Amino acid sequence: MTSYYFDNNATTRVLPEVLEAMLPWFTEHYGNPSSSHQFGQFAKEALMTARAAVAKFLHASPVEIVFTSGATESNHMAIISALALHPNRSRIVTSAVEHASTLRLLDELSRTGIEVIQVPVNAKGELNLIRLKEAVNENTALVTLMHANNETGVIFPIAEVASIAHEKGALFHTDAAQTAGKIALDVAQIACDFLSFSGHKLHAPMGVGVLYVKKGLTAKPLLYGHQERNRRGGTENITGIIGLGVACQLAQQTMSNANSTIAALRNELEQTVLKTLPFVSANGSEPRVPNTTNLCFTGLHGEELLHKLNKAGVMASLGSACTAGGTDPSHVLLAMGLSREDAFSSLRLSLSKETTDSEVKMLTQIITQVVTEMRSPVNV
Ligand code: PMP
Repeated sequence: MTSYYFDNNATTRVLPEVLEAMLPWFTEHYGNPSSSHQFGQFAKEALMTARAAVAKFLHASPVEIVFTSGATESNHMAIISALALHPNRSRIVTSAVEHASTLRLLDELSRTGIEVIQVPVNAKGELNLIRLKEAVNENTALVTLMHANNETGVIFPIAEVASIAHEKGALFHTDAAQTAGKIALDVAQIACDFLSFSGHKLHAPMGVGVLYVKKGLTAKPLLYGHQERNRRGGTENITGIIGLGVACQLAQQTMSNANSTIAALRNELEQTVLKTLPFVSANGSEPRVPNTTNLCFTGLHGEELLHKLNKAGVMASLGSACTAGGTDPSHVLLAMGLSREDAFSSLRLSLSKETTDSEVKMLTQIITQVVTEMRSPVNV
């Protein structure tokens, strides 16, 4: 059976060029970059090359790049570092629709006396900037805000929020897990202090990620050791890091062309489904990342829809992958004001630069068929 992969916000396929660059580092050049012999020094040079590529990708300097295991770890490190940098401030401002890696940590911190303010979003998924401005004060250590939402793709105005944070002397961190590789990132333009992302969302492997730490700020390690300028201990994931360096380079070269194609395919998919089927609406409004659509099939049981699509070869997601299989509806859709029923009836479809026009056409046919069957009087 042919597979139709529409879950690229959960993870992406490793690109052939990325795999090719990584392969020799498993079996031929397997040195530890901390070793002083030939193999070690060779690995150290490869690490430097990858760091330079990632720095270029973010318009940062190589010393500002800390390699981590992924965005979850990077988010943790940014939040813990901000609290250490502002020991006399105890407020963190965030949004109600952040990824679980942020919200769960903040929940934990709130039990230790940190005051966490979750700024709401409206029905379109847009951040309430007035409420954000009210929440940021002289006691705020950090404003942490995702760049784009993983479920709806809605983009937040992070540069504006960074300047609101800085006006009150607070630090600003952005979780760019869903924008890295999808829209150009420039840390100077955003004026962020910290930025996180994961390799596997942009065609590098899982288990490698980045925390950008603005020059002059001291990051607090979560893991102690001499690596990454004492900021992240543990022998470096050299193969993953090399893959990430190449993935960043490729994304930077191809992003602007790929984006218009991806957006055109996403729009075609969304418009066709909305036109063809009744009782379907799109969750989240522009600006959105080009690859994501989140559709509510009112009255349908989302898990059942997902299961039927899966049987037809379509891989999609209910809300975020991290909540899939769980019994709770998406906190993002609930925060946007959807009922529990509508949140349970919503499906996320996410494309990549590898998605083809014929896959989109097949997907729309399969969705139309499955949804029509589910809605037919025999099945109601
Ligand atoms: N933040 C966002 C917005 C994400 O979408 C994800 C991945 N679902 C993460 C953080 C965590 O990334 P990872 O699981 O690779 O650590």
